[in-house]
Amino acid sequence: MKTRIENVTLLCCDLAQHIYTNSSLTFENDRIIAINEDVPYDICIDGKNGILMPGMVNTHTHLSMIPFRSLQDDLPDRLRRFLFPLEKEAMTQRLAVSAAKIGVAESLLSGVTTVMDMYYYSDALAQVYDSMGIRALVAQTIVNQNMCDAEDEREGFNIAKTFYEKWVNHPRIIPAFGPHGTTTLTKKTLIDLKAYTQKHNALVCMHVAEMDDEMAHFREHNTTPIEFLNSIHLLNSNFISVHTIHPTDHDIELLSQHNVGIAHCIGANIKAAKGIAPLKSFIEQGIRVGLGTDGPSSGNTLDLFVQMNLVAKCHKVHHHDRKLFPAKEIVQLATMGGASVLHLDHLIGSLEVGKKADLVLIETDSVNMYPNHDPYSLLVYSANASNVHSVWVDGIQKVNNKHLVDYDLKQLKDECDLESTLFNQKLHQINQTLNIT
Ligand SMILES: [Zn+2]
Repeated sequence: MKTRIENVTLLCCDLAQHIYTNSSLTFENDRIIAINEDVPYDICIDGKNGILMPGMVNTHTHLSMIPFRSLQDDLPDRLRRFLFPLEKEAMTQRLAVSAAKIGVAESLLSGVTTVMDMYYYSDALAQVYDSMGIRALVAQTIVNQNMCDAEDEREGFNIAKTFYEKWVNHPRIIPAFGPHGTTTLTKKTLIDLKAYTQKHNALVCMHVAEMDDEMAHFREHNTTPIEFLNSIHLLNSNFISVHTIHPTDHDIELLSQHNVGIAHCIGANIKAAKGIAPLKSFIEQGIRVGLGTDGPSSGNTLDLFVQMNLVAKCHKVHHHDRKLFPAKEIVQLATMGGASVLHLDHLIGSLEVGKKADLVLIETDSVNMYPNHDPYSLLVYSANASNVHSVWVDGIQKVNNKHLVDYDLKQLKDECDLESTLFNQKLHQINQTLNIT
């Protein structure tokens, strides 16, 4: 089946950042076969002067944390005082699954076609992502405490290995490893994890140089989280360093030397008052960077338009430099940047013949999209998720006319509500403990 989308502005997001107005793209099954070329087709879609771009790539999230959204957003030390205890008590596999479905829905409806998800119950979540048709890297979270699906880090690591071996050959779901953080696992487990993941060439994502107490812990030992990871040889091109808000110049050199990728989650970082990661230095050092929303409990949204807007504004004001990070560069971070962090840039991240048909059509009829002088600028400063008209993953349409093709959003929310009884009880209890009414 060949589908042609015409009458669009094509933002190719390839290396040369080609942009073509009044153009067309044709895909056959899961691959792009023609750009601005008249080839035979079976179906023709009128893009109505919209913007056709590659599907966006969310390099860090925890989709199943939907139930935590808007809870205790302003609580100091929220992770340890609120999130970890509630998650341990109340996050069942059934709730994680029903929440993940809403996370996928929100991602697709906002033009995200690839997510790097890090959570518990990885096998069940991978089945959700597989059946809903999103492209996903799924990392089992490993943490050295009794959590919802494992007693400790050893059990978590075993779950991760079993999960990895089951899914390693799947065409669209890529299993990975998610050691939680530099102070939430023992050195021994990290060394074992290094040996296993390097032997299997597996991706590892980890929260790094994020928390104040994490930085203080390593400072006491006269080192940094990144120097520590380097000392156990965990840093390599398969390592995705999430957040990385507080690296030293030497840390940035290490990240560059070892070709580490970075998931930059500006919205979550500034909301929690953690700081602004040195994105300018990362890029100057040639480090691969993509954008991430973090979980819906941390960043409250799975929308990369929000992240693009914040990247522009936060880094410009931080450096007091208006010309820093033009919109064109920021759209590149949300597409090819993310694809390259996940080592998927040969398949996705740009509109090029031979690449996967992961496509997003943004309408320009809405009042906030008028006039269309500069599509990059529109995407970064004016657009929002409600402008996403259609989405395809692997050439299969997932969103049409701003609605999910295969799912009813109300049904997904009802299903999640049904699974939330225990969560709501435990939430009430923990709020009482914290003296929050
Ligand atoms: Zn995270």
